[in-house]
Amino acid sequence: MNFADSEVVASILEQDGYHLINEPKKANLVLLNTCSIRDKAEQTVRKKIKSFNSYKKQNKNLKLGLLGCMAERLKEKLLDEEKIVDLVVGPDSYKELPNLLDQVEHNQRAVNVILSKSETYGDISPVRIHNSGINAFVSITRGCDNMCTFCVVPFTRGRERSRSPESILREISDLYQKGYKEVTLLGQNVDSYLWYGGGPKKDFKKASEDQKKNSKRFSDLLLLIASSFPKLRIRFSTSNPQDMTIDVIETMAKYDNICNHIHLPIQSGSDRILKKMNRLHSRDEYLNLVKKIRKIIPNCGISHDIITGFPTETETDHQDTLSLMNEVKYDFGYMFAYSERPGTFASRHFKDDVSTEVKQRRLQEIITLQQKHSFERNRRFIDTECSVLIEKSSKKSNKHWSGRISENNVVVFPKYNYSLGDIVNVKVQDCTTATLIGDINKVKV
Ligand code: SAH
Repeated sequence: MNFADSEVVASILEQDGYHLINEPKKANLVLLNTCSIRDKAEQTVRKKIKSFNSYKKQNKNLKLGLLGCMAERLKEKLLDEEKIVDLVVGPDSYKELPNLLDQVEHNQRAVNVILSKSETYGDISPVRIHNSGINAFVSITRGCDNMCTFCVVPFTRGRERSRSPESILREISDLYQKGYKEVTLLGQNVDSYLWYGGGPKKDFKKASEDQKKNSKRFSDLLLLIASSFPKLRIRFSTSNPQDMTIDVIETMAKYDNICNHIHLPIQSGSDRILKKMNRLHSRDEYLNLVKKIRKIIPNCGISHDIITGFPTETETDHQDTLSLMNEVKYDFGYMFAYSERPGTFASRHFKDDVSTEVKQRRLQEIITLQQKHSFERNRRFIDTECSVLIEKSSKKSNKHWSGRISENNVVVFPKYNYSLGDIVNVKVQDCTTATLIGDINKVKV
């Protein structure tokens, strides 16, 4: 999401006469887009800020700005704590950047952290700075209304709102014409997408009958995109289990160009912990959803997020998480030790009482189990032919391409005379926990 936001910022600033350069050393303005999701993310930013001390000494004109969630969370305090920072701007205030930068040019430090109920940057065409012209992120919702007790996002990104289907289609059409092969639709909770003419999701109940009748949900949006761009691969992230509906899974099954992968965070396998996290589904409801996905899309890739050591988590709760993983057998996952975030419900009401050692030990057990499952799941592709979108050179060998299949697994195979962005059929011959290894049956001449 921060990658996508940085591209919006680049576009706003280009329109104001700025231009992007690759080397921070030569820049007169450096903007760091920051994350607050875990304490470690913030510590990384703090270190990065320190690294600009020497740049500022060399270039007296250099201005340093902090964008994103850390800016929103810490506000003016960041200026007190980090003396070399000139500018602090939250995720909904990027259109104000030109004005704020004028202030900074006049040697006044500037802050704008006002959250909006309607800003979606739908009218901005992002400048693509992060990719190779093959896949791009397209933001479809902003903010989050879920209030998971561990999570800082509702405080830093504000209320949930959806972007208009017209502006989403316009952006995708532009990408398609430029030769992009894949888009990933982005939101904290994409399944909760709801367009009824603009404004926060929570106000849908106040919308007119006409607005309600013409409203678009996530499955409507997916169908619209998939049918308008049959040659474009479509992915989306993240799906919150409580909001994922069967019509989304059915739409995925109906359109070949919607990739067969669902990122479906579970966070914990214990009902008691799920409740304390305010995840609004039970373990059984989650497992039923997985069953339905596998019934409708048998080969679907499913991945997860898991947090270990949430307050009061016992060994039994931890075993519940391991047993859930054994039931689902995920393709891959992102696993984290709980990090208390100031201001969240959990930080105000629950003691962070699982020791670092226990969190880390449980995390390691979960990672080890996931690696075993990833390997098992990868093996199901051996001796099958998969359609691979070539994305880059393999990190390990420049004689091999690396790309992904619909289920999101990475495949490496010899380059022959194929090019970046080609979609090719690859026969999988072997695998590791992270990668499928293949070759081409018939070589293009
Ligand atoms: N909106 C998405 C999550 C975005 S954050 C969703 O609800 O699925 C990505 C992941 O970071 C979360 O799924 C969670 O596993 C992890 N995370 C969020 N807050 C955390 C915290 N305080 N400590 C550790 N991990 C956290």
